[in-house]
Amino acid sequence: MTEHGFKAEVQQLLDLMIHSVYSDREVFLRELISNAADALDKARFLELTRRDLRLAGEEPGVRVVVDAVAKTITITDDGIGMTEAEAVENLGTIARSGTKAFVAAHTGSEGAPNLIGQFGLGFYASFMVADRVVVQTLSAEPDSTPVRWESAGKGAFEVGPGDRATRGTAVTLFLREDAAEFADAPRLRTVVRKHSNFLPWTVFVDQEKANAGRALWMEPANQVSDADANEFYKQISFDWSDPALRMSFAVDSPVQVRSLLFVPARRPYDLFHQEAVRGPRLHARRILIDEHARDLLPDWLRFVRGVVDCEDLPLNVSREMVQKAPVVRKLRDLLTKRVLKEFEKHAKLPAEGDTAPKVGWDAIWREFGVLLKEGFWHASTEYGDALRPLLRFHTTTCEGADGLRSLADILAARVEGQEAIWYLTASSREAALASPHLEVFRKKGHEVILLTDPVDEWLVQVLDSYEGVPIKSASRGELDLGHDDNERVDLTAFAPWAKDILGDAVTDVRASSRLTDSAVVLVDADDGMSANMERILRSANQQVGAARRVLELNTAHPLVRNLCGLHEAGKADAAAPIMRMLLDEALLLDGSVTDAPAMGRRLQDILLTASSSALRS
Ligand code: ADP
Repeated sequence: MTEHGFKAEVQQLLDLMIHSVYSDREVFLRELISNAADALDKARFLELTRRDLRLAGEEPGVRVVVDAVAKTITITDDGIGMTEAEAVENLGTIARSGTKAFVAAHTGSEGAPNLIGQFGLGFYASFMVADRVVVQTLSAEPDSTPVRWESAGKGAFEVGPGDRATRGTAVTLFLREDAAEFADAPRLRTVVRKHSNFLPWTVFVDQEKANAGRALWMEPANQVSDADANEFYKQISFDWSDPALRMSFAVDSPVQVRSLLFVPARRPYDLFHQEAVRGPRLHARRILIDEHARDLLPDWLRFVRGVVDCEDLPLNVSREMVQKAPVVRKLRDLLTKRVLKEFEKHAKLPAEGDTAPKVGWDAIWREFGVLLKEGFWHASTEYGDALRPLLRFHTTTCEGADGLRSLADILAARVEGQEAIWYLTASSREAALASPHLEVFRKKGHEVILLTDPVDEWLVQVLDSYEGVPIKSASRGELDLGHDDNERVDLTAFAPWAKDILGDAVTDVRASSRLTDSAVVLVDADDGMSANMERILRSANQQVGAARRVLELNTAHPLVRNLCGLHEAGKADAAAPIMRMLLDEALLLDGSVTDAPAMGRRLQDILLTASSSALRS
C-alpha cells in the first residue's frame, strides 16, 4: 500500500463536511450513484469503438447493498473502472470547478453546511456519513490490474493492489455511528427514488429495482407529469428549486431529435464564470455522448438546461469528432429556433388569471434578459426577428423599478406626432430619471426606454427600429420637437464665444430644444461613441478617446439669458467663469466629471466672487 496526501482543497472540503450537522446528508447516495452512472455511460460510449475492453460482469446497472449488522453500504457499478493512476488522480483532487469555487467561498463560514446539497460535491460526500471508505476498482482497459483505495477522510489515502475480478467499481462506506440510520434498505430506496429516479440506468437496492429508470426526454411531453419533469430537472442540474419553464421538442426533420429542456427559476451562481461548464447533455439513441455539450446552443442561451437526444450523430468516432460533426451545427440552429419560439409563446401568455403561467416571462426576463440582449447583439441577423418580441424594457412610464414593457407596448403608447421610440442610456435608473434629457419628453408625454445594463450600449447599435419606427437616443444629435412660446435669447454671438471659453471640452455650443427646467445639457454627437459607452469602457480599464459632445443651452432659462446679457454688455470676464461652471454642472448631472479637484476650485472662485459682491451691495 502507498500512502498519499489529499490536495489541500480536498482536505478543506472534508473538514467542512465531516464537521457539519447537515440535515440533507442523504445526498451522499445521489453523488455516488451519479458517479456510478457516469462510469457506465463512459463504458458504453467506449464500447461503440473499442472491441478490446473488458466486458461487464453482469447486466450493467448500479447496485446498492446494505449490511445492517456491519453498518456498511456498498455501491457497485460495471462501468469504466479506474487504474491506479486514475484512482490517485481522480479521488485525490476535486474535479468539478463548481465544487472548488464552493470550497473557496465557504471555508470557515457558518452557513456552509446547509448549502452543501445544492452543489455537486461528488465522491467526498461519502465522508458526511462514513468514517472509512474503501474503493475496489478494475479498469475496463485490457492490461489493467485491480486497485484498492482506502481513506478515513483525515488528510491521507492509501492505494494498493485490490481484488475486484470484473470491470467496474465498488465503493464501501463504513457508516459513522451518527449515520447508522442509513444501513436500512427501505430508507435507501426512498432516497434513490427522491434523488436518482430518472437516471437512465437501473439502480438496485438489495437486488430490488429502486428507480423508474425512464429516459423522460424520449417520452411524449403530455405523458410526463410536471412533478416528474421537475424532479428530472433537479437531478441533472443540481438546482434545488423547480424550473421556471419546461420545453419538450420532438423533431424528425432535418435531424431526428428528442429533447427536454428547462429554464431555471434563478440565475445559476456560475452563469458569468468563464470556466463554468455549460450546455445541455447530449445523447445519441439514449447513449450519453457529452454531459455538457457547449456547441448545442449559442453561448447566450447558456442558462438553458436539459437533455438533447439525436439519432443522427456519428457514433463510431471520438467525442471531439462528434462535437465537430456538421449535424451538430444543424442541431444548434434548430434548437435555438425552437427555444426562442417557446419563449415567444410563453411571453404571450397572460400575466394574471387562470391561464397565467406559474413563472411569467417578465420574471424569466429579469433573470436572463441580459443574456438575450447579448444574443440580439451577436446574432440579430439570424435571430433578431425571434428575439425582438422577447425584449423587455424599463421605461419612464413603468411604475417602480420592477415594471417592464415590450416594444409592442411602447409602440402602442406613442402619442400623436411621436416619430421615434426614444431611449436613454445611463449608469442607473435613478441617474436616468434625473437626466435633463428627459425634460422635453416628459413635457410631450413621450415614453422613454431607460437602459442601464452595460450590454445595452451594444444592443442599441443593432436595435435601430421596430415595425418601421426608428429607435433613437434621447441624448444624441439635434432634436427638433418644436418650440414653446417662452421668450428666448439669440445665441448667434454668444455661442462661438462660449465654445471658445470651453475649448476642447466640447465640440460645439448650441441652442437646445430638449430642456424646460435645466439651463444646460451635454448631448452626444450624432456619430461616434456615447458618453455612457465611454464610462463603461473606462470602468473596464480600456483606453478610449473622449466621446464627442455638444453643450446645449436652454435659451429660455434666466441663467443663460443673464450670461448672454453680460456678454453683450462687454462683461465677458464676469461671464466666463460662470460659463465654465455651467459645463461642470452638466458633467455632474450625467456622471462624467473626470477632474473633481479642478471643478472644486472653480466653484470656490465663483463663491468668492458672489460673496464679495454681496458684501459690496
Ligand atoms: P465528478 O463526478 O464531478 O467528476 P467526483 O469527486 O464525484 O467528481 O469524482 C471524481 C472522479 O473520480 C470522477 O470524475 C471519475 O473520474 C472518478 N470516479 C468516481 N467514481 C467513479 C466510479 N464509480 N467509476 C469510475 N470512476 C469514478
